[in-house]
Amino acid sequence: MKIAVINSGSSSLKFKLFDMETGDVLKTILVEHIGEKNSKIKNHHDALESIDVDLNLVDAIGHRVVHGGEEFKKSILIEERVIKTIQELIPLAPLHNPANLEGILVAINKAPSVPQIAVFDTAFHSIMPPEAYLYAIPYEMYEKHKIRRYGFHGTSHSYVLKQTAIKLQKDARELNIITLHLGNGASICAIENGISIDTSMGFTPLEGLIMGSRSGDIDPAIIFYMQRELGLSVDEVDSMLNKKSGLLGICGNNDVRAIIETNDEKSKLALDMMIRRIKKYIGSYMALLGRVDAIVFTGGIGENSSYIRDRVLENVRHESKILVIKTDEELEIAMECLGVLKK
Ligand code: ADP
Repeated sequence: MKIAVINSGSSSLKFKLFDMETGDVLKTILVEHIGEKNSKIKNHHDALESIDVDLNLVDAIGHRVVHGGEEFKKSILIEERVIKTIQELIPLAPLHNPANLEGILVAINKAPSVPQIAVFDTAFHSIMPPEAYLYAIPYEMYEKHKIRRYGFHGTSHSYVLKQTAIKLQKDARELNIITLHLGNGASICAIENGISIDTSMGFTPLEGLIMGSRSGDIDPAIIFYMQRELGLSVDEVDSMLNKKSGLLGICGNNDVRAIIETNDEKSKLALDMMIRRIKKYIGSYMALLGRVDAIVFTGGIGENSSYIRDRVLENVRHESKILVIKTDEELEIAMECLGVLKK
């Protein structure tokens, strides 16, 4: 059985073709700089057109969809209704869901008779308890407007959980672990008995850890101050917090490897801030979980930087195993497709 996975981000598209019997990756294609100034590839439609694989010859196509809202708690076969709902969820993920949707529409157009499956970043976190997903704002903001924590990077946290179970030779449903996905975007997840019970990203991927260019947690009153006193518009503040903050905002660079090498005052400060934030989350998740079987690092920084891992774990008293696992969101999506097809 061959499964193709399409992971369309805001400006990139990753394509992988898996042979599910052998586990081989038959093809990997990465299209970057979609829609950027001097790029030949104007949109996700062009990006998919540039892929030289006949999608009619695969058994299923899996699509990563960032926001599944409260509607999608697991992966689902794509039909008209599913497309409509993903469309309705665009206001919750304005950068991501349109790109995901475009990927879906082009793929359906190219291979109308191949089953297509949507796999959501939010699904793994969708059974968090209300005390984890609610914000302490008027309850009707949740009831009427669906303002709540959704959490993201679900395919990565869930893949890493399964790999941890394999490594520790335990049932995933018996594991209490803390997973750290540290890439350009970063999030941390508290997993109890195989279930996400809390995670650092929230209503959007802006909350939580200090990331490449995102601020993560700040006092929300800073936003009112910027608007009232500094005269910034809503869009200006939005763009500042998402694109000009985080490591980039502090030291002018969002690439952790380069920041470690630069090692000047601002670079050190940016790393100190990032590490402190991660430690604060680890501490609070340890307090939630009690027993922690493993602390698991993944994502570009988590997988590659023993320097960051060591600093994060400094002073953390624990009996947990420390694991480094290379995440593979596309493989997780392919396995999810297999699950949906079998039903
Ligand atoms: P994305 O969220 O864009 O998928 P990645 O998971 O690829 O990001 O992670 C990118 C980050 O990983 C960058 O900040 C990069 O500098 C960092 N990184 C990669 N290799 C190393 C390394 N050897 N040491 C430190 N940081 C690294």
